[in-house]
Order: sequence, then structure tokens, then C-alpha cells
Amino acid sequence: TAFPASRTVILTGAASPRGIGRASAHYLAERGWSIGIIDLDAEAAKRVAEEIALEHGVAAAGAGANVADEDQVRAAFDELEGSLPQIVALVNLAGVSSPVPYLEVTAEEWNRVLDINLNGVHYATRRAVESMVKHGVGRVVSLSSVSAQRGGGTYSKTPYSAAKAGIIGFSRSVARELGQQGITVNVISPGPIDTDIMGGTLTEERKEKMAADGVLPRIGSPRDIAAAINYLISEDAGFVTGQTLNVDGGLYMH
Ligand code: NAD
Repeated sequence: TAFPASRTVILTGAASPRGIGRASAHYLAERGWSIGIIDLDAEAAKRVAEEIALEHGVAAAGAGANVADEDQVRAAFDELEGSLPQIVALVNLAGVSSPVPYLEVTAEEWNRVLDINLNGVHYATRRAVESMVKHGVGRVVSLSSVSAQRGGGTYSKTPYSAAKAGIIGFSRSVARELGQQGITVNVISPGPIDTDIMGGTLTEERKEKMAADGVLPRIGSPRDIAAAINYLISEDAGFVTGQTLNVDGGLYMH
């Protein structure tokens, strides 16, 4: 099925000022996508949507939801779907870091990270594909991490790596089940990207050290990830599904 001329991409976790989500929303709006933003911070989600509508002249709306709460996720989708063109794509970016050493991980920390970083991806994906199957076309992209593939080693530790690795198995399975319905499901696995997710610990010195570790001697920018998202949700990427695209400067090769 061809893409409709007027189409919406929903991005979760796209409200933080220096985040990958906000940069990606701008990048996609510039290329004609209407934008729906779901974030824990409802006010910021609406602000970013307004700024995008003004700057790029596309339809855009924001809604608040904790992605770990399925009812809130479904309500946010209902709200956005009511005011935006057909939902063709979902990008799961909402996530939290977790630098706690394994021997200090409490049940609470384990559940917090898995609830947001893995269950949240399931809740949003499930709701989005329910809309996509009605039109026989859809694109889902979720953000994993190089730390899922290399065993941590960047900033976050075990619960984060487990959740991010879970996203890969989840995506392959949903890809297999929904291919017949015109829906592709893929993963992007970024290396260290210059955002605020590491809670102010990403100093210039640390950036240089991380950069020296890679094949390409720099850390990544939100734009590096936005460009990969733009490809995977494009109409022309319709023969690519169940894949994990590493956008990490060559940190992990396989
Ligand atoms: P960020 O902290 O700038 O953005 C995360 C966004 O998610 C924020 O807008 C935040 O409000 C939102 N969020 C957090 N918890 C939420 C919840 N429970 N419900 C709804 N929204 C919630 O981080 P970022 O660096 O832009 O990361 C985006 C994604 O990319 C994350 O999934 C992250 O794990 C992944 N990633 C980032 C890096 C990196 O180095 N920055 C590397 C690999 C993967």
C-alpha cells in the first residue's frame, strides 16, 4: 500500500530540549511529516509541537503520558489521532538511563527501567499498530542502544542493557507477525549521542574519551539518529524489516 500524501509520525520521548526526539521531530517535519509527540512532560510536548508547526508549517500536536502506563499511552494516542492525519509511523524514543552497578540494583530500580524502556515500547507499539493495520501500511522504529549489544560500557548498566536488548527481540517478533499487514518494524542502536540523558556526566573530557573508543573519532549528534529514523520510516524502506541499524561510529560491528 502506498503512503498517503498527508501522514503522521508519532514520537514518544520527544520533548527534552537537547534530546534525539525533538531533533528528529524537526528533521521529519522538514521532510513533510505531521508530528505527534507523547512525553511524560505534557507541557513540553505541546510546546515542541507548537514550535514545529510554526517553523515547518505541518500539523503537530503534543500529549502527556507516562509510557509505562498503558491507559495513559492509549489516551494520548486517541487524543493525537483525533487531530492529526493518518498515523503511518511510530518512533519509540522515551527512555531513562540507569547507571546503578548490578550488585546494587533494587527490585524497584529493575522494574522502573524495564517498565519505561521495554513495556513502554510494547504499549505504544501495540496501540499504534492497531491503527496501522486498518490502512495496511505502517512503520515502527524503536531506540535500542550499543549497550544492549556490547554489555553496557557506556553509561547505563544492566537493567538498561536488558531492556534495550529486549527491544530487539520484541521488534523482530512483531515484524514477523505484522509483515503481511504492510507494517515494518525496525530498531536503531545508537552509540553515545550528545544529549542530556547521562544527567550532566557527559563532560568534554568524557566525550573525548568515548570518541577515542570508536572507529569514527567523535560522539554522535541527535541529527545522526534523526537521519536513520527518516530512512527507516520512509516509503522507500518498505523492504527492510526486523533489522537493527547500528548508528554508533563503528563501536559495534557484526
Ligand atoms: P533524553 O533524556 O534527552 O530524552 C528522553 C525523553 O524521554 C525525554 O523527553 C523524557 O521526558 C522522556 N521520558 C522519560 N521517561 C518517560 C516516560 N516514563 N514516559 C514518557 N516519556 C518519558 O534522552 P535521549 O538521549 O534523547 O534518548 C532518546 C532515546 O535514545 C532513549 O530511548 C535512549 O535510551 C536512547 N539512546 C540514547 C543514547 C545517548 O547516548 N543519548 C544512546 C543510545 C540510546
